[in-house]
Amino acid sequence: MKKDIYDIIIIGGGPAGLTAGLYAQRARMKTLLIEKALPGGQALLTETIENYPGFPDGITGHDLMERMKNQACKIGLEITTDSVTAISIENEKEGKAFRLVSEDAREYTALSLIIATGATWRHLGVPGEDKFQGRGLSYCGVCDGPLFKGKKVVVVGGGDKAVEEAVYLTKFASEVTLIHRRDRLRAAKILQEALKKNNKIKLCLNSVVTSIEGDKMVRGVKVKNLKSEKGKEISCDGAFVFIGITPNSSLVKGMVKLDEKGYIVTDGDMAASEPGIFACGDVRKKTLQQIVVAAGEAAQAAFTAQRYVEGLKGTAY
Ligand code: NAP
Repeated sequence: MKKDIYDIIIIGGGPAGLTAGLYAQRARMKTLLIEKALPGGQALLTETIENYPGFPDGITGHDLMERMKNQACKIGLEITTDSVTAISIENEKEGKAFRLVSEDAREYTALSLIIATGATWRHLGVPGEDKFQGRGLSYCGVCDGPLFKGKKVVVVGGGDKAVEEAVYLTKFASEVTLIHRRDRLRAAKILQEALKKNNKIKLCLNSVVTSIEGDKMVRGVKVKNLKSEKGKEISCDGAFVFIGITPNSSLVKGMVKLDEKGYIVTDGDMAASEPGIFACGDVRKKTLQQIVVAAGEAAQAAFTAQRYVEGLKGTAY
């Protein structure tokens, strides 16, 4: 049986993957997007996105991702639910190709790949974190915030995500304590302003969490002040951890150049070090991780992949 060879396979269906799919499909490349869960990625778990241009009153992460998915599907993007487990390089009649094997033992072949696998929330790595996950310890305010109506919670982190989520959690919690390891926050100034205006939020600065405490559920966190070296316990019913992300690049480890943190290094046209592999979104090395940046990179990645495939086929304009 003749196997299908895609021009472009996109791995990952967040903002980057869906935008790459839109552009690849508009170029009439034979394209497949493989996503292991629901298309939309981490953005699905953001309550309100206030900085995506064109939505002056903000838009929920869910609505923005539905729009992106619908726009790509409307022009015929093929999306499949599967989890790619390995990638190898083969020679096809058309030239070099990539063979993908999946968890469902399915195989896919493509002349080019766009890696848009995003990133995963980083864990604290302290005692109690594993034990209390799902029992008061969470990495998602939108998913679990409503469980803490009238209760006390702590939020760990000092970046955009931690500050945004701390403010969001005050919709439910009676008190939110933001614990950050420095004396000032990393988050965007507009988010810090919202935090300062909110009298349900307390700050616990220069401090790190040393353990999560509880019985069957979280009952508190132990923190250490890095200046005084003194420890204390903050009693709470929930702990939310937002301390950054780790790129999901293990699929292409050893195949393309990664930086010391595991982000894929590309040129300005989104080409990775292995010809035929392109990357965009949170898995790609850069200094600003935003949905709008991911979308821009994805448009470029799709265009560069298109040019690459047309070069292989001898159909370049
Ligand atoms: P981030 O910007 O990398 O911030 C992570 C925060 O966690 C930093 O304040 C860091 O402290 C702290 N941290 C890291 N490891 C820690 C540890 N082991 N213990 C305690 N604290 C630790 O990550 P993020 O806030 O999760 O956001 C991820 C990306 O998404 C960012 O690029 C962000 O800009 C973007 N984002 C944007 C928006 C928005 O535009 N509205 C919303 C959410 C996320 P230090 O400051 O000391 O390093």
